[in-house]
Amino acid sequence: MIKFEEAYNIVKGINLKLAAEKVPMEEALGYVLAEDVLSDMNMPPFNKSAMDGYACRETDLANELEVIEIIPAGKTPEKTIGKNQCAKIMTGAMIPKGADCVIIVEDTQEVGKNKVRYTKPVPEINVCQVEIENKPNVNICYIGEDIKTGDIVLKKGTLIKAQHIAIMASVGYTEVLVHRKPKVAVIPTGDEIVEPHIKPDVSQIRNSNGAQLVAQLKAMGIKANYYGIARDVEGATMGLIKKAYAENDVILLTGGVSMGDFDLVPEILKTLEFDLLFQAVAVQPGKPTVFGRNGNKFCFGLPGNPVSSFVQFELLAKTLLYGLMGQDYQPLNLRLPLGKEYKRKKDKRMSWIPAVFTEEGTIVPVEYHGSAHIRGLGQAQAIFAVPIGVKELKKGDLVDVRQI
Ligand code: AMP
Ligand code: MG
Repeated sequence: MIKFEEAYNIVKGINLKLAAEKVPMEEALGYVLAEDVLSDMNMPPFNKSAMDGYACRETDLANELEVIEIIPAGKTPEKTIGKNQCAKIMTGAMIPKGADCVIIVEDTQEVGKNKVRYTKPVPEINVCQVEIENKPNVNICYIGEDIKTGDIVLKKGTLIKAQHIAIMASVGYTEVLVHRKPKVAVIPTGDEIVEPHIKPDVSQIRNSNGAQLVAQLKAMGIKANYYGIARDVEGATMGLIKKAYAENDVILLTGGVSMGDFDLVPEILKTLEFDLLFQAVAVQPGKPTVFGRNGNKFCFGLPGNPVSSFVQFELLAKTLLYGLMGQDYQPLNLRLPLGKEYKRKKDKRMSWIPAVFTEEGTIVPVEYHGSAHIRGLGQAQAIFAVPIGVKELKKGDLVDVRQI
């Protein structure tokens, strides 16, 4: 049995990225960038009004101003602003030559046909921009202040979210190079489990791991290949794993990994020439987690209990999958104080405890009876770690928290 940190490092150390391919920008959500994205233009591309108002010269603010042009967004100004002149300007429109500030509509008054006055004491103009390169704070977004032509706007290895797609769109990356997503097989094992639409017999239970894993993959943007339940018979399980091996990059099995007479998974994986990199981890839930590699293909034998399967997918399988997708996956680990004390009887393994966040910024365990208690997990927003050797934690002690 190895420590959780060692198991994590083994998975994290798999230095393999799947091939790169081009995808249309609109479909890039959830992929990992296989190239840097560079800007082909300045952003903003021109000096731009940040507000609806009048573009004029700061030195003329005490005077009546003549409106010489109206500049909607998208129109190139035609006139140059001279002494005591201004142009009515809309948010996002180009600042006309000669103007060095924009006064906002709310701070002006019309004083005759095409005449306006600034109503605020001069020079206390309404400020919304930070000062950039010694230019005054004048409701102007300056050319290139956000992005300059040639800047790397997104780095290789970025997991693409909606906000990154906005960046790609703004620099014209309509197609983007990403790593392909892994093909992942899901195979629950067990003679006692039946698919959810079936009413279980007295000694049966429903298969919750299958749907849970498919959903966990879906949340990562990976479409699972579901192979159905493998019965606890060597031939049946072997057959399904062989088929899944031929068709996928990663196989996720659940059940059949503990010490029971019908826990066949580790031996079958060995027969199929998987190198088992670990077979037991000092972690709870999830001790009998198996991880194997055969060439460029990988297999997790996750524990049968659904909370264990869930947690080890989150902690280990996700790390592998994001790694294959090209991301240096660094899950957000919050150090938070416990909202109440925590005790456990055994301390030989690291524990991950289902918990909720509180408004006070603490973390509090939910009622949880162990690795089959999916109702407890269902109430949790996070899991927190209790290290090996620790039986008791006091209120206020800091723990590592992972949102789920
Ligand atoms: P095993 O690792 O096969 O011994 O299974 C451990 C426990 O998890 C047993 O109580 C199983 O009934 C349960 N279990 C196994 N597979 C599933 C599944 N797909 N869905 C829900 N529970 C399961
Ligand atoms: Mg079983």
